[in-house]
Amino acid sequence: MSMTFRILGAAGRDNALLVQIDSGQAFERLLFDCGEGCLSELPFRDIQAIDHLFFSHLHMDHVAGFDTFFRCTFNRNMRPNRVWGPPETARILQHRFQGFLWNLHEDMSATWLVHDIHPQLIHTTRMELSDAFAVAHEEGTELHEGTILKGAGFAVDAFTMDHRTPTLAYVVREKTRWNIDTFRLASLGLQPGPWLKQLKESTSSPDDVVIDGIRHSLTELRKEVIVETAGKSIAYLTDFLLDEQATERLCDALRGCGTMICEAQYRHRDLDLARRHFHMTTVLSATLAARAQAGELILFHLSNRYDRSEWLEMLQEARQVFPRTQYPPHWGLDPGAGADTLPARMQQAAPPESPPDR
Ligand SMILES: [Zn+2]
Ligand SMILES: [Zn+2]
Repeated sequence: MSMTFRILGAAGRDNALLVQIDSGQAFERLLFDCGEGCLSELPFRDIQAIDHLFFSHLHMDHVAGFDTFFRCTFNRNMRPNRVWGPPETARILQHRFQGFLWNLHEDMSATWLVHDIHPQLIHTTRMELSDAFAVAHEEGTELHEGTILKGAGFAVDAFTMDHRTPTLAYVVREKTRWNIDTFRLASLGLQPGPWLKQLKESTSSPDDVVIDGIRHSLTELRKEVIVETAGKSIAYLTDFLLDEQATERLCDALRGCGTMICEAQYRHRDLDLARRHFHMTTVLSATLAARAQAGELILFHLSNRYDRSEWLEMLQEARQVFPRTQYPPHWGLDPGAGADTLPARMQQAAPPESPPDR
């Protein structure tokens, strides 16, 4: 099981986030937003392998690279094409789908499902390549209670935030795993056997089991030999007002999140401007990370109103609030992080455990 990620796009330009989850049985790729040029750094086959596209919202800087994604996937029928976003996502994407000349489509088939996430409902629209995306087929409405997607070994939660328009904050969490502590097992003199399956099934009844002729309580054995490992988690947070109410609401949702990826549009000196545009500042992002007890904070979506030296000052002001803050290492912005031109590669998500220095 592993969860890795990579920030796409450069500092001061449009950005996106690619998350890969390897559950052992399946490999899933999730893309969050696709600003201009973000996907040009990925090979065609990697874009084609993206399972889900999640939009925070559809402002131009988050959707301008959609054509690159669509060019690689428009006729994909090996896997479902699924897009998620705030209300109006289906309406806007249908225009994008139809923004090309389609005259060879009738013999092709590919289904697109677009999910509009409202605060309490998810409304799904289906569009077909075979009808040149001309018809928005109603696929119904489901209740939205936080988790919008359950995959192999992970789940995605979405929260509606305020950016003078609804925008979505996302959290991807690996499921908790339960493993047998084999050293503990050996120290208790117990031989592995079919009884281990019973031990892992918390509902197994009766509560006892016979091992090598001796009766044991499953409840007691579980306490002795089962090790619980919380899954890793990544939050994707961009383009919304982070006032006290929003901070409090998100703190609960993000508690103990390993890796928090959060916008740094404004330096804190420009707090008034940030509030006016319903954005965050570096200090607000760092405050959220500290209060949610995140493992690490990675700042992205920097405004190009600032130059490189100001971006460094912004990193420092965030670190004063939350020391484990960094920019994506391959941006080469932080002189303390080593090489200036690291190649872009997938990074491991941080573990959820609170580090001891907090
Ligand atoms: Zn925006
Ligand atoms: Zn933006």
